[in-house]
Amino acid sequence: MKYVLVTGGVVSGLGKGVTASSIGLLLQACGLRVTSIKIDPYLNKDAGTMSPFEHGEVFVLDDGGEVDLDLGNYERFLDVTLTRDNNITTGKIYQSVIDKERRGDYLGKTVQVVPHITDAIQDWIERVAAIPVDGKEGPPDVCVIELGGTIGDIESMPFIEALGQFSYRVGAGNFCLIHVSLVPVLNVVGEQKTKPTQHSVRGLRSLGLTPNILACRSTTELDVNVKEKLSRFCHVPEDNIITLYDVSNIWRIPLLLRDQKAHEAIANVLGLDLPCISCKAVLREWTARAQLCDMLNEPVRIAMVGKYTGLSDSYLSVLKALLHASVACGRKLVINWVSASDLENATALENPDVNKAAWDSLKSADGVLVPGGFGDRGVEGKIIAAKYARENNIPYLGICLGMQTAVIEYARSILGLENANSTEFDPNTKNPCVIFMPEGSKTHMGGTMRLGSRRTYFQVSGSKASQLYGNQSFIDERHRHRYEVNPEMVSKLEKAGLSFTGKDESGQRMQIIELASHSYFVGVQFHPEFKSRPGKPSALFLGLIAAASGQLDTLLNKPIATKANGCANGVSLGSPHRYGNGKSTVNVSYTNGNGNGLHA
Ligand code: GLN
Repeated sequence: MKYVLVTGGVVSGLGKGVTASSIGLLLQACGLRVTSIKIDPYLNKDAGTMSPFEHGEVFVLDDGGEVDLDLGNYERFLDVTLTRDNNITTGKIYQSVIDKERRGDYLGKTVQVVPHITDAIQDWIERVAAIPVDGKEGPPDVCVIELGGTIGDIESMPFIEALGQFSYRVGAGNFCLIHVSLVPVLNVVGEQKTKPTQHSVRGLRSLGLTPNILACRSTTELDVNVKEKLSRFCHVPEDNIITLYDVSNIWRIPLLLRDQKAHEAIANVLGLDLPCISCKAVLREWTARAQLCDMLNEPVRIAMVGKYTGLSDSYLSVLKALLHASVACGRKLVINWVSASDLENATALENPDVNKAAWDSLKSADGVLVPGGFGDRGVEGKIIAAKYARENNIPYLGICLGMQTAVIEYARSILGLENANSTEFDPNTKNPCVIFMPEGSKTHMGGTMRLGSRRTYFQVSGSKASQLYGNQSFIDERHRHRYEVNPEMVSKLEKAGLSFTGKDESGQRMQIIELASHSYFVGVQFHPEFKSRPGKPSALFLGLIAAASGQLDTLLNKPIATKANGCANGVSLGSPHRYGNGKSTVNVSYTNGNGNGLHA
């Protein structure tokens, strides 16, 4: 097993996660099987309890792990399925050591950071690195480890110590350290400054880690003399100094690394003999997508009616899924951020300008997306958005809470149940159309969330959702919720025209709603965004963007594969639009803004 550690210096927010994912992709393109581990030195056991407003979205894995959003980057870039153990936190490590101490496993010893915590970290890495994540048998070849935070953070000290020991444990030739740093350009003189990187490398060395490769974030390519200087002061060969200069889109990063031969530098450190020809072939698809993404100019506007509209990372996977679908449909994605509470009547009274701006933004969109959420702020606004989309035949995709609010809206407007609500927001409502339906304990909130991959069975064939998923009998998608549509209200809602086209195996949990008479009105209890991939957009996002850009009929009128597995949504650039396992395909031709025919 070879390990590539990615650390960050100078400041946070340098795009370390994307860099580490891109390195993984590059190695994968060279024919290696790659896995990844993200280390988050915070004390929380997992990201589940952290506010998306502060920390970005909580990413959910198949196994129900609630993890850092960087694991989403790895899954998307490497097209792998990670486990909760691929995200290490201080909380998890300390808990495992304290549990062992309580069991008496340390035989009367004083339990210390070194060696007990540092050993636990190393053992964890070694164990998890061997888990296959690509659906194949046997351990991967390379594990990319990303250390969160910036060198010098107090919290990351035990991890740095552990990783220093680990590099010694696995031996030279099996460990490659890539340090992502910043080379700022001072405006006055326009000079690229190396000092911050020098300092951060010195800091790294003083902690016992020696970088093999420097990946320098800068606005433009590094000057030759700047590279020379960095090489001299940081003791890194010039060939191993890579510039991550600003690019037009994220998919260009792996190409940037390839062009600067990052994979060859890594291969040299790890003693690998890489076939670079195949490396180029696999990256052709990424090149095409990166170029296409820059060329698109005909917009598709989607109103994101959410709660955390101030920090786009709060909805990262939803945005990525929208992007994947937009690129597949040959459209440039434009997000109209609408803060749900701004749509409410209370805002209209208190702050009419804000309310008007929110409504203008909603009304100028081609489609509406209401993402998941917790807590009652903005819920009425989300209900209003669902009503607007339903009544005006505007394509709508409601995810989790976005499905629940659509059901509440339907019960209020069509069934005339004025106070219909979810018991999450009104525990005493006379018309509970969304109720608490825990899978686990009824007394402990921590154990009551329905988390991870669950199966949905289609109830009717031929509904839009079912067609988009390739007319399979079932699909597996990821969940993260406590509340669900009240099964006792289902037949009433159904008689009034709301179709429950997907349910769980018991038939008690409603998973998909649709309105047959509407251009595209879909709500799902699960989160399809977590399984969307570049080149393989999630089926329902593809449906939303296709509907919002007038292409849904074309998409659905083609014969779609009837047999497919898992997430049936493979769309690859430059090749036929392929659903499911690829046994049967359908061609869908889209046009981009320039009028060029493109196969998506
Ligand atoms: N708060 C809702 C529930 O727990 C929706 C959760 C979500 O949107 N992820 O069921």
